[in-house]
Amino acid sequence: MLLKGYTKEIFKSKCHPQAQGIHCYAHLTDDVSRALPYINATLGGFTFTKNPVSVTFKMYGKLITIHSKKIAINALKDESEAEKIISWLQREINHAWSKRDKITPCYESAAQPKIIEILKFLPKSNCKQCNEPTCMVFSVLAAKGVKDQNDCPPMDEENKTKLGKYLSLFHF
Ligand code: SF4
Repeated sequence: MLLKGYTKEIFKSKCHPQAQGIHCYAHLTDDVSRALPYINATLGGFTFTKNPVSVTFKMYGKLITIHSKKIAINALKDESEAEKIISWLQREINHAWSKRDKITPCYESAAQPKIIEILKFLPKSNCKQCNEPTCMVFSVLAAKGVKDQNDCPPMDEENKTKLGKYLSLFHF
């Protein structure tokens, strides 16, 4: 077993202390760097960096980044949800590592949505109903998988459908 355990650190967003939800770091007992190209291949990470190595992907509606000795997860409901996701990730990491001779490792990032394309679907009123200061900030977060069409209340249904289809092209 590559990853034997972790310790959770739960905290609120420093940038948006009024925002609902919590963030979590899982500090890992073991270095999982060698497993990350296999996790990138099996879970379809949309950002893979080589130095320092990390993989980022969206799962369960959360943005998840696995570093060599830390996992970061945003926008969690509570600690029990954090525990559920981290224990699942521990199983995925160990499974990918144990099956590595059957998996082709991936060292590339998947294509990402274009910020300017996302912006085209937004009302561009900077109304802040999404808890972000501007539509541009919303677009940047949507490109990273943190926001989606359901997080912009004033967006009309037609544009919601179009944005949802566009984002779905990128594993979201
Ligand atoms: S809710 Fe929509 S229109 Fe308002 S700032 Fe956010 S992205 Fe822009």
